[in-house]
Amino acid sequence: MDFLENAEKHEAGLFGVGGYTSCYRRFSTKTNKAREAVQIYKPGQKLHGYTVKQLVDIPELYLTAVTLKHDKTQAQHLHAAREDDNNLFSVSFRTTPMDSTGVPHILEHTALCGSKKYPVRDPFFKMLSRSLATFMNAFTADDWTMYPFSSQNYQDFQNLLSVYMDAAFYPELRELDFFQEGWRLEHEDPANPKSPIIFKGIVYNEMKGVFSSSRSIYTQEAYNKLLPSHTYGVVSGGDPKYITDLTWQQLKDFHASHYHPSNSRFFTYGNFPLEDHLQFINDKYLQHFNQISVNTSVPFEPRWTNSRKGKIDCAPDPLAADPNKQTTVSVSYLLGDATDSFEAFTLSIIGHLLVGGETSPFYKSLLEANIGNDYAPTLGYDGYRKESVFSVGLQGIAKQDEEKVFQIISDTFDKVIKDGFEQERIDAVLHQIELGQKHQSGNFGLGLSMAVTSIWNHDGNPTESLQINKHVNMFKQKIADNPAFLQDKVHQYFKTNNHSFSLTMSPDEKFEEKRKEEEKKRLEKKVKELSDKDKQILYDRGLQLMQKQNEEENLTCLPTLTLADLDRKIKPEPVETTSLGGVPVLCSIQPTNEVTYIRMICNINNIPSHLLPYITLFSSILTQMGAGDYDYKRLSQEIELYTGGLDTSPLISPHHTQPNTYEKGLHFNSYCLDKNVDKLLELWSAIFNRPDFSDLNRLTTLIRMEASDLAMGLADSGHRYAMGHSAASLSPADNLSETLNGMTQVSFMKKIAEKTDQEETLEKLKELAKFILNKDSLRILINATPEHMSQAVKSVDRFLQEIPGNHSSSYNHVNEESFKINPLNTQFELPFSVNYVAKSCQTVQSTHEDFASLRVLASLLSRKYLHREIREKGGAYGSGASCSSDVFTFYSYRDPNSTQTMDVFNQSVQWASNSKFTDQDIDEAKLGVFQQIDKPIPPGKRGMLLFTSQRTDEMRQKSRDELFSVSRDDIIAVTNRYLKDNQKPTSLTFLGPANEQIRSNQDKWKIIKD
Ligand SMILES: [Zn+2]
Repeated sequence: MDFLENAEKHEAGLFGVGGYTSCYRRFSTKTNKAREAVQIYKPGQKLHGYTVKQLVDIPELYLTAVTLKHDKTQAQHLHAAREDDNNLFSVSFRTTPMDSTGVPHILEHTALCGSKKYPVRDPFFKMLSRSLATFMNAFTADDWTMYPFSSQNYQDFQNLLSVYMDAAFYPELRELDFFQEGWRLEHEDPANPKSPIIFKGIVYNEMKGVFSSSRSIYTQEAYNKLLPSHTYGVVSGGDPKYITDLTWQQLKDFHASHYHPSNSRFFTYGNFPLEDHLQFINDKYLQHFNQISVNTSVPFEPRWTNSRKGKIDCAPDPLAADPNKQTTVSVSYLLGDATDSFEAFTLSIIGHLLVGGETSPFYKSLLEANIGNDYAPTLGYDGYRKESVFSVGLQGIAKQDEEKVFQIISDTFDKVIKDGFEQERIDAVLHQIELGQKHQSGNFGLGLSMAVTSIWNHDGNPTESLQINKHVNMFKQKIADNPAFLQDKVHQYFKTNNHSFSLTMSPDEKFEEKRKEEEKKRLEKKVKELSDKDKQILYDRGLQLMQKQNEEENLTCLPTLTLADLDRKIKPEPVETTSLGGVPVLCSIQPTNEVTYIRMICNINNIPSHLLPYITLFSSILTQMGAGDYDYKRLSQEIELYTGGLDTSPLISPHHTQPNTYEKGLHFNSYCLDKNVDKLLELWSAIFNRPDFSDLNRLTTLIRMEASDLAMGLADSGHRYAMGHSAASLSPADNLSETLNGMTQVSFMKKIAEKTDQEETLEKLKELAKFILNKDSLRILINATPEHMSQAVKSVDRFLQEIPGNHSSSYNHVNEESFKINPLNTQFELPFSVNYVAKSCQTVQSTHEDFASLRVLASLLSRKYLHREIREKGGAYGSGASCSSDVFTFYSYRDPNSTQTMDVFNQSVQWASNSKFTDQDIDEAKLGVFQQIDKPIPPGKRGMLLFTSQRTDEMRQKSRDELFSVSRDDIIAVTNRYLKDNQKPTSLTFLGPANEQIRSNQDKWKIIKD
């Protein structure tokens, strides 16, 4: 349940935490059954209360789209028939609030708290444990609210459809739900009327978390001020300052006027029959409604005659490499009607040409001017509102450089208008569009639904925007007709356009203090207004809420899948291994749709320890510096022209059975159209043979960007940093992971970025290149179609002959027998208004007989205990337990509490140890584990488990069998063996504001301030 700060950027996981794992449908271009099934319909035809409006074949996406309108309510429906069994449903409403109380966001949460047919607390969350959904969530954007889910199982789809429809159209919206999800005044300890009265509520804390991030504050302000006159002038997710003005009645009114079929858009996708969907939606829901007149449309923003400027403050960033360079500036331009699909297509290409990649004019003029460390957070083309926007600017500049940035922006547009764009760059963008259609990643239905929603939401034609080939051809024609076509557009939108807003954000030492003061005053005012009677009501309500949260509920009204619905067998991922000059090459033949995937792993066990912290930097810059005859610009251009990108990342893979043993590696990742395999390998060959780190200026730019990226991302993924840090003291693999990806890396990169001379860093990187870029311990995985595999293998063979080294071994592990377990309690004091708490306990390797039970236990605790105590009662945004090789970790996310949450972790262990769960709970916990394991894997990724961690199909089958057989006794046994009374070494870490309880307990805690 998520507030979309910027619609495309944010993907929330099932618990509102982390990213959802990308999903894939089994998909073949050879059969067309799903499309043929809808091609029989004719415009004007009546179907279950609907009239068919239009049928559109979109061959480039292998789908046929059908649009329909519901006769009685005028609800709109778009069905995309495609031979893909990962079917998706979504219903969205145009929600256009006129204040910043967060009413659409709180409604999105509250609608999921119980409905007419499913009158239980939080049926949405409970379905997570009763389903094999490949995706479930709800989103609030600036001007729409969407409820999407996907599943590959027909029965499961029907179950979820029923729960979603009931939640959207017949939610109970109880007063207590509003208090729980939105905001309330309550005693800090609800049972103690003497404890102070404070603000509580899930969305209230969620948005405090969002507004802890300077990036979010900046983006929000830029859009609010560029489009001030209507709904875009307010914060749809809710500004904590105003959330506490919202009443329950306003929430119910908003539901009545916005969540109505007449204001709704339904989207279905996949190979399940359209008529089943229509019949269900009409018969059970829509036919019971009458049409209403809706008043949710957004007017065009009145155009300005002069551009405008604004200034805001933010909290100083303790991780900033240079404290004097913390100002962010950018300019946003209002472009035009985003529903004009060809104009939007053209502007999105222009947006990419202007700021995308190392050869773009703004990269050169802004980033390489060395006055800032990265682009400002609002960047490029944004078509997610009624009118599209383009923004560009810099962050990490000195305050006095503000005007310089504005000047550069203006000069850059002038230069583009004069010189235009190189044809090769335009070709590169068109190549990326072609590859993007063929490369299968993510949840296709969900991506489609997101892609059409913004346009459709403002009554644009949703199928029009999907017809990419039509747009590409038209685009090419326009350029052929008028070679200055793009320059003319740049002139029109950026030179003669007065509707632009420049925003400057600078740190203020008192920022956090002022914010606390504002909240304190607001609270005092509210408390002062309370009569004795009000106080009594408030106290009683706190108790009532607590009691409700503690109630055992009868959940039999909710539909469920059972373990019997699951496949006992794994889906095999057959891989053939050959050897080319000793190098193992794994071939995974798959329907990859004219795309070849090439991955390589280089074992790096022998790297000297003083070079280890540099691995992350090395991997992130390797393909961004020059190589062979290419300088970095040329290399970047070649990558865009011929590939889907070349990525490198560190790999840490624990051994299945040996303690303190793991593999260190570097993972090279790439894909391209089949016809470009030789070109792709030529680029890798240049990088392996002659990486060129000599451009110190370039290196400095990349280091600054990397460091600032890490620092800015901290507030968004604080739980991951806390979890990584607490696990680090318990296992050597996690310890290395902390060095490469954790808080240790963040402060390491800060120190590197602070250096004025990068000569020494450069030497380290060169040293690493010698160790890594050869075939001494290389292995390769190729995913391609049967038609293309042998060609790909031949190309790889040639590549292997070109690169240096002599293959000696692959799959080596290091054993750190000397690793000393060193449990510790750490707090990172950071300028956040919420906490991220983690607790880790040492456990066993992934093939150990207790591992399956620990996995089920993690799922059980997450679903059946922590969610209730930490989210529902504690008001944190998210929580859970996770089990990986060697370590079991508890966590909370955007949490108003810290020490109290640690107590909850302990109580959850007691709860499990005392066998306080039902048999149904165990089944649901297992279903939760399988939901993760059974996520569809795209053809380009099959074989990865074997390749990265030598997990064979037999091992996968064995661990599946073990999961099925986990019993109640097993769960209790592992709880007592590993988690109870800190039997095993245990560490705590949390990220958050200064904490008096911790500060007064310094003998047990290590406090890190920067
Ligand atoms: Zn939310």
